[in-house]
Amino acid sequence: QQIFLNGEFVQKQDAKVSVYDHGYLYGDGVFEGIRVYDGNVFRLKEHLIRLYESAKSILLTIPYSLEELTQIVVDTVNRNNLHSGYIRLVVSRGEGNLGLDPTSCPRANVVVIAEQLALFPQELYENGMEIVTVATRRNRSDVLNPQIKSLNYLNNILVKIEAKLAGVQEALMLNDQGFVAEGSGDNVFLVKGNKLITPPSSAGALEGITRNAIMELGDTLGYEVEEKLFTRHDVYIADEVFLTGTAAEVIGVSKVDGRVIGDGKPGPNTQRLLKAFRQLVVEDGEK
Ligand code: PLP
Repeated sequence: QQIFLNGEFVQKQDAKVSVYDHGYLYGDGVFEGIRVYDGNVFRLKEHLIRLYESAKSILLTIPYSLEELTQIVVDTVNRNNLHSGYIRLVVSRGEGNLGLDPTSCPRANVVVIAEQLALFPQELYENGMEIVTVATRRNRSDVLNPQIKSLNYLNNILVKIEAKLAGVQEALMLNDQGFVAEGSGDNVFLVKGNKLITPPSSAGALEGITRNAIMELGDTLGYEVEEKLFTRHDVYIADEVFLTGTAAEVIGVSKVDGRVIGDGKPGPNTQRLLKAFRQLVVEDGEK
C-alpha cells in the first residue's frame, strides 16, 4: 500500500509524521473521508471544497492548489489499484514547538490514504440499525462551527463511546437547545408521509456530501425535502428514520431509544433512496 505524504509516495510502515505535529498535539488540522466507486472518486470536488473551506476557517494553508490536490488523490487511488474503497485525506498544522501558536509550524503535513473499506454488514441494510440519543451535545455553531471538519473529533468520539456503552453502534446527538443535530459521523433524515426532513446546518449538522446527494435525489423522486429543526419526539413518531454518510451510505434505523420505528425494518422509502444513491454513485462516474 502506497501512501501520499508531503509530495512523495511511501509504504505504509514508512508513512510517519512527527510527534511535534500540532495535529497530534492539539487536533489542529482538517480532514475528509471520500469514497471510490468503480475507479471513480465520488464527488471529489465537493469534498475538496469542504476541505479548503475548513482549512481557511482555521487559517491553515494547504500547500497545494485544488487542481494539484485533485491529481494527488487520483494518483493515490491509481497507484494502489483501488477499484472501490475509501480515501482519507488529512491536512494537519505540521511540526512546530510545544506551544499552541500555529505560527511555529511552517508547513502543513498532507497525507492521502486510499484503501479497502470495511463495509458495514449487509444484514444491517436489511434489518436496520438500533440507535440511541446521548447526553453529549453538538458544539454550538458560534463556538467551533460543526461545518469545520477538523481533527478535533472528541465530541463525536464521546457520542460513539456513549453509543457503545448503551450496547449499540451509533447514536444521535442533540444541540444545546435539545434539537436533533446528527450522528457521530452521519447525518440523519426522517420520513413522514411524503416529506424527507433533515436538520439544517444551523442545528449543528455537517452539510454532508451524502446528505446533499440524498436531498437532490429526494427532490427528483418527488419527495418534499425540508431542512427543519426537530426533536426526539419527532424521531420516535417518524414513519422511517435513516442515517447518511460517506462510509454508511444510507442506513435504515430500526429503533431509537427503545422505540420501534415504523415496523422495525428499513422502510420502503429508505430502501428506495439507498437504491437510487447506489445508482447515482455509478452514474456520476460515467459523466
Ligand atoms: N456528520 C459528521 C460529523 C461527519 O463527520 C460526517 C462524515 O463526513 C458526516 C456527518 C457525513 O458527511 P458525508 O456524507 O460528507 O460523509
